[in-house]
Amino acid sequence: MRENSAGEFRPEGRLGTAALWLRSFFFGEKCAGCGRFETGGDSLFCPACEKRLRAEYSQKCPLCGRQVCACLCTAPGMDEAGGSALIKSGFYDPLDSASPLGRAVIRLKDSRDRLLAGFLMRRPAQTLTALLSERGLAAGDCVAVWVPRSRARIRITGTDQAKLLARALAGRTGIARAPALVRSGKRSGAQKALSAHGRESNVSGMFRVSRPESVRGRTAVLVDDLVTTGATLNECCRLLREAGASDVICVCALRTALR
Ligand SMILES: [Zn+2]
Ligand SMILES: [Zn+2]
Repeated sequence: MRENSAGEFRPEGRLGTAALWLRSFFFGEKCAGCGRFETGGDSLFCPACEKRLRAEYSQKCPLCGRQVCACLCTAPGMDEAGGSALIKSGFYDPLDSASPLGRAVIRLKDSRDRLLAGFLMRRPAQTLTALLSERGLAAGDCVAVWVPRSRARIRITGTDQAKLLARALAGRTGIARAPALVRSGKRSGAQKALSAHGRESNVSGMFRVSRPESVRGRTAVLVDDLVTTGATLNECCRLLREAGASDVICVCALRTALR
């Protein structure tokens, strides 16, 4: 079994090894970054990807100067929409097709990989816990919600990646989950090809809050996998605040790199 300096890329706890074994049973013993077969390891990543991951984690936010995992900088328009922080584990560069974090997040879009979701929420969970204690909040003052995927996508891929991430984050922080956000049924065009303004009007009316009582008077922790312009999160922040959430803290696996 390969040695791993900090055990950072290894599943935790007594059940970690068993969980990794199960994962390799279902998904093959593949690196969660490059997808190459990597046998005999006890990590989710191959040594080359681990090295790149360390470099990705050491990136600094150009706005606040903090390490990416400690950065709380919001997306444009998020403050106005009622979101007070955006926690992320890394920056996403769509041009860097070899980024292990980028590939792990893309992988999560069509594989129900709980271990990988747990890994991606490990650092954000630490940042969130620190932020809550700084603000004098307990886990019980918060509720974890997520940006739901469309039923059609769930049918095709068999997974709702933001829900999986929210579950992992909730498990790590002791925050309860609630399926407060639902799709309203408005058909969405693909966000990818749209401008920032186009994205805003595209997401308008796409979601609604189905259980306002679950967020009322609480800090909503809003989870998504990949944040690009922030249009979707901003819309959800606005809806959650309208439903009575006292604050919204956004958490994502990756935030598109700021240039
Ligand atoms: Zn790899
Ligand atoms: Zn920052």
